[in-house]
Amino acid sequence: MWTPNRGSTPGYVEQARQLTAARAEFGWLRTGSQTVQQQALRDFDQAVRNFYGGTHQRPTWRRAGLHEGFRIVGPQAARITQMNRRWAAVNIPKVGWVRFRLSRAVPDAKSYRITRDRAGRWHIAFAVIPEPVPAPGTGQVVGLDRGVTVSAALSTGELLTCPGLSEHEQERVRQLQRRLARSRHGSGRRRRVQATIAKLHARAADRRKDWVEKTSTYLARGFDVIRVEDLRIAQMTRRPKPKPSSEQPGTYLPNRRRAKAGLNRGILANGWGLLVQRLEHKAAGRVEKVNPAYTSQTCSVCRHRAPDNRESQAVFRCTACGFQANADVNAAVNIAAGRAVSARRETPVRVSPKREPQHATSA
Ligand SMILES: [Zn+2]
Repeated sequence: MWTPNRGSTPGYVEQARQLTAARAEFGWLRTGSQTVQQQALRDFDQAVRNFYGGTHQRPTWRRAGLHEGFRIVGPQAARITQMNRRWAAVNIPKVGWVRFRLSRAVPDAKSYRITRDRAGRWHIAFAVIPEPVPAPGTGQVVGLDRGVTVSAALSTGELLTCPGLSEHEQERVRQLQRRLARSRHGSGRRRRVQATIAKLHARAADRRKDWVEKTSTYLARGFDVIRVEDLRIAQMTRRPKPKPSSEQPGTYLPNRRRAKAGLNRGILANGWGLLVQRLEHKAAGRVEKVNPAYTSQTCSVCRHRAPDNRESQAVFRCTACGFQANADVNAAVNIAAGRAVSARRETPVRVSPKREPQHATSA
């Protein structure tokens, strides 16, 4: 690794040269595919670039059981045959023909990625950016507010709830976690319990993703302009600062950390960030970010703004005109009427044209 007196670190080209030398020397390296190993170096190169570009955190080690997967590019990625409507097969270097079930038609892609999730399921994904969903052309604008009691409220009055685990399933997770705490490290029982927990978490993640895909398609198809709050999820979910006590040095005042932690879980579990991201992919150029200040305190009918308007988490009642509504819907109407915040563009990170196609990131 880099130290100040060692000069610059080897880049991708030098690393690829070192890989070739290492493959000549070590038989165990040669048993793996060179393409896969080169692509891993490319991924690392991109991760370092992203880190210095300021958009991503420092790259971390890949972990067994967590980051399982590889990428195939070039002519090797073209060896695909479709067997019937439901099944196709790819010829994976050093592995051979592997069948996979189709969830959609195989696109014309220059590369694909194979990953294994924590629940032990293998997935194949072809790197293609699909066409965005066409706008309906009705001129209709919708506002979208993220809530904690419901996942999202629309300015049309619709309330959308992102599914997670059922009460029964949550209880099962807690029960398994207690069993995990009692099991010895490295035991077969521990591995089995871990696998069962991972399966339940994977089920919840599948439901969230499914909801996000359906909801984003529904919104992209139904409305010309979709307005959302301009929130930085990363900032919102950051740990609250400790509040030092002025009376007793060395002690701290309550900073509502637990309450915030609960809210964080709500936001993350509701997949809000993912929903906005997918909306921007599907309704490219039709998603506007609106300054969220006071959207929850302002009456959407008479524009009267007061903290007292918010009767409770769920109910909004205007102290001036008496208008009453679901608090999240009222906020969504304000967001729909809001003006787009001027786009803040992050410095784009240089991406090699050989890389997988990436979605354009909007501000
Ligand atoms: Zn009012």
